[in-house]
Amino acid sequence: THFGYENVAEAEKARRVADVFDSVASRYDLMNDLMSGGMHRLWKTFAIAQSGVTTGSRVLDVAGGTGDLSLAFAKRVGPTGQVWLTDINNSMLTHGRDRLVDKGIMTPVAQCDAEKLPFPDEYFDCVTVAFGLRNMTHKELALAEMQRVLRPGGRLLVLEFSQVWKPLAPLYDFYSFKIIPRIGQLVTQDEASYRYLAESIRVHPDQETLKSMMEGAGLERVEYFNLMLGVVALHRGFKF
Ligand code: SAM
Repeated sequence: THFGYENVAEAEKARRVADVFDSVASRYDLMNDLMSGGMHRLWKTFAIAQSGVTTGSRVLDVAGGTGDLSLAFAKRVGPTGQVWLTDINNSMLTHGRDRLVDKGIMTPVAQCDAEKLPFPDEYFDCVTVAFGLRNMTHKELALAEMQRVLRPGGRLLVLEFSQVWKPLAPLYDFYSFKIIPRIGQLVTQDEASYRYLAESIRVHPDQETLKSMMEGAGLERVEYFNLMLGVVALHRGFKF
């Protein structure tokens, strides 16, 4: 076709990601707890501790899904702050919004692609993306957009699966390729989506590569923190 191979492959990836999250949305929170043994809550708490977010801050939660981070940030920023829960996927976002409303939190919600954020330049004090960058087709573009909407002095936090400490890799591969798809099958009747999850982790840039990508997008003083021996890494960068 005149779109060329690359665009067909990219469209295919975007469609696959949409199918995965449409399929898992209703069981997403339960699966997170099961797969990580509840650890994802600690990883998110760690990210929030590095955010510098306080009363009155403006926060953008990119690929926010069912809203874990938005919920925690909304409590922090109080009535004078703003937290935007955003995601490309309507099923995930609907669950997120309902969950926040059930907890009495009326935070703005927007369905949008991280690669084309509908916000003005230099608007946010903090932008976060947790377990979302991995699914994006043009990661450089998404990082550049997140940098664009940050105010000078603002922070970008990227929480994502990363490269685990080498000696642990065989065990980790066994867990992610054999155990997780089984749990996925039992809980969501969807083994394929959880196999996709394991594969997407394997091809995601490692700690140093992601650090360079963030620097390439204009972020400064970029550093990362390995959590659980690199199963997850939190990258933090500033805009100046
Ligand atoms: N941040 C939440 C959390 O940590 O629980 C949800 C993470 S979930 C694994 C990944 C999310 O990324 C999905 O809700 C998916 O729809 C979203 N996503 C994937 N590609 C995206 C894009 N290009 N723009 C915005 N969101 C995207």
